[in-house]
Amino acid sequence: MARTHILGFPRIGARRELKFAQEAFWRGETSEAALRDTGAALRRKHWLLQADAGLASVAAGDFAWYDHMLGLTALLGALPKRFGFDAAALTLPQYYELARGNTAQPAMEMTKWFDTNYHYIVPELDADSTFEGGPTWFFDEIDEALAQGLAARPVLVGPVTYLWLSKSHVAGFDRLALLPRVIAAYRRILSQLRARGIEWVQIDEPALCLDLPAPWLDAFDHAYAALADSGVKLLLATYFDTAAPHAARAAALPVHGFHIDLVRAPQQLADWLQVLPAHAVLSAGVIDGRNIWRADLRRVLDTVRPLHAALGDRLWLAPSCSLLHVPVSLDAETRLDPELKSWLAFATEKLDELHTLAVALDQGEAAVAQLLAASDAAQASRRTSRRVVNRQVQNRLAALTADMADRHSPFETRIERQRAALALPPLPTTTIGSFPQTPAIRQTRAAFKRGDIGALDYLERMRAEIEFAVRKQEALGLDVLVHGEAERNDMVEYFGEQLCGYAFTENGWVQSYGSRCVKPPVIFGDVYRPEPMTVETARYAQSLTDKPVKGMLTGPVTMLQWSFVRDDQPRSVTTRQLALAIRDEVCDLERAGIRIIQIDEPALREGLPLRRADWAAYLDWAVEAFRLAAAGVADDTQIHTHMCYAEFNDILPAIAAMDADVITIETSRSAMELLEGFGDFDYPNEIGPGVYDIHSPRVPGVDAITRLLERACEVIPPERLWVNPDCGLKTRGWPETEAALANMVSAARQLRARLAGQAPLHWKRVTPPTARPAASAPTHGAACGASCAGQAAV
Ligand code: GLN
Ligand code: ZN
Repeated sequence: MARTHILGFPRIGARRELKFAQEAFWRGETSEAALRDTGAALRRKHWLLQADAGLASVAAGDFAWYDHMLGLTALLGALPKRFGFDAAALTLPQYYELARGNTAQPAMEMTKWFDTNYHYIVPELDADSTFEGGPTWFFDEIDEALAQGLAARPVLVGPVTYLWLSKSHVAGFDRLALLPRVIAAYRRILSQLRARGIEWVQIDEPALCLDLPAPWLDAFDHAYAALADSGVKLLLATYFDTAAPHAARAAALPVHGFHIDLVRAPQQLADWLQVLPAHAVLSAGVIDGRNIWRADLRRVLDTVRPLHAALGDRLWLAPSCSLLHVPVSLDAETRLDPELKSWLAFATEKLDELHTLAVALDQGEAAVAQLLAASDAAQASRRTSRRVVNRQVQNRLAALTADMADRHSPFETRIERQRAALALPPLPTTTIGSFPQTPAIRQTRAAFKRGDIGALDYLERMRAEIEFAVRKQEALGLDVLVHGEAERNDMVEYFGEQLCGYAFTENGWVQSYGSRCVKPPVIFGDVYRPEPMTVETARYAQSLTDKPVKGMLTGPVTMLQWSFVRDDQPRSVTTRQLALAIRDEVCDLERAGIRIIQIDEPALREGLPLRRADWAAYLDWAVEAFRLAAAGVADDTQIHTHMCYAEFNDILPAIAAMDADVITIETSRSAMELLEGFGDFDYPNEIGPGVYDIHSPRVPGVDAITRLLERACEVIPPERLWVNPDCGLKTRGWPETEAALANMVSAARQLRARLAGQAPLHWKRVTPPTARPAASAPTHGAACGASCAGQAAV
């Protein structure tokens, strides 16, 4: 029988059972035993799904009470000493304190797992870190699977990836120095698995798909040489990109098999076949573990048939990566359009696809003729469906000319016209868009969605919220106002719902971090904007005040990044369609008298490919899409963009190439480092570095804001500086928001007065423009979690 397996299954449950159990436990409403029961029931259910689909083994140990990296930190016993916990005796409440913080200690840091929207807890290591083992949970889960008579294949993130993704707070500490200790811990873990009669262990080393420095590549040799006599067979799993550059090195490691991602990087197959040792298993990741489309099984069979002929039992079939990144089952979708539904496969349906492939290989395609026919039909209908193909959109795309991505005049000319038109004071003050989403606002939106209140009633209540926000901002003395985004639950969903080509699932939940899940919308067809989306709201807000009100839009790259994206055309093409839809809105806002338009792109950096060699190509089309969205307006219309919670210093040329007149950017995470980056780079346009962190209810003092602004003035010419918070204020309450903004406005006014006395303003550098050492891993910037990054995580 052709062998099939998966690298991991979503743990949260089809109905988000784990989320609700966790949160009830945190609130003290249920016992730990009840939570543990929920976890065990989900594991059992998910294992049975795998067994029923005929998988050769079931993935075990992929479960997590919060996050699998934190689980591994616990298993290794590598807890940050600052918590003072005894690793071997770690309790579940203590584990949650590591993840969420407690009264004495802030939580461990969280950041994005490679280029996914899943966030892991970053191991916090230093020279004193120990790896003497932790609680037995991982082994208990393996025992649980074995006790159910299942062929359990334990899953562990490997030692090199674990260390690479870790962070040290001690500057200059070389995390690789810990490798011998970490290896010793893995040896102990593997020997305990062997003692249970485990044959295969899956060791995930996705770091092999990054650009690793030489010593880190050598670490693979040391680590796996030391694990060679562990008595279990190791399947070294790579995913999210090609590992071909390191195929020869990997093939020489004393492991028993390799998993490669043939969805993201099909071209790597040939390289691996050349070096695959005669005894080794090749696990071919042929079903997309990152996306929700049904596979073209006929095409997959064309790839795997020759492999099966050549490798026989040494070929395993698998999804490209863990199924953690897709929702659990289509069964929960009762309202999806049937045609669209026929194109989709969530985790459970992907198990069935694997099964179909295995039977086709073993017994011939006739044995699964109906299933293959259904796959063919889905592909055919996707290719031709009127829901997908829109000639007008395609013609418009074909007719694009390069100049459409350029503003009429260069920045220097535009900014003069904008200054004349807007007549703003120096150091203008503004906010990023959203104001507190009060319970009343949420209730109104929910009532409207349920149909409890009518459209007119809803409109009136939203208008009242807008007027409230505008009056508050006027009273605070802000210079550029916003309408407050009361009508938006989520910055992607709000626009997706008004665009054609987008669909929404009922239960397509994917874990984002801990108990937080997101429900990414699905881009299934050519995207266009049937009618204006925000114009009436913006017009109304502007009608209330003489101050300029910013129009507020989500940019094309962020729309793409936070959706499930169609796989039948390049992402760049889909992004260009989104860009045109937003361009239409930008132009309509301008026509409606809106003089400043902000196009948010917080997810621009998230889309960066794993390998640097691929960055330029991505940044080219991402930047072009933004420019296309923005460039339809006259010189005196001011375009803003906003970014947050990511590393920006290494993509500054691309950010500058977006050519927004103003960028407002979060700086709390990296404090001045970011500003210095902009200064050193000589960022040409206007910039509003966030002057206070919006994550805390703490009200920043005037002095603290002033100090930050003074430092900003040293690296950015003050005449190009804006004053604003780090990000939107929707998660805050009004009292602290008002207090913080009042201080911000007062700091700006004081500095303005001081600057007025010392014309002309000079740009004084504090740091010479020397190259700083590259930021340490992880290369994919930290995030504060999807909810504050603008995505509704619930
Ligand atoms: N305009 C959005 C807001 O203020 C921006 C959110 C974000 O940057 N993620 O909420
Ligand atoms: Zn933001």
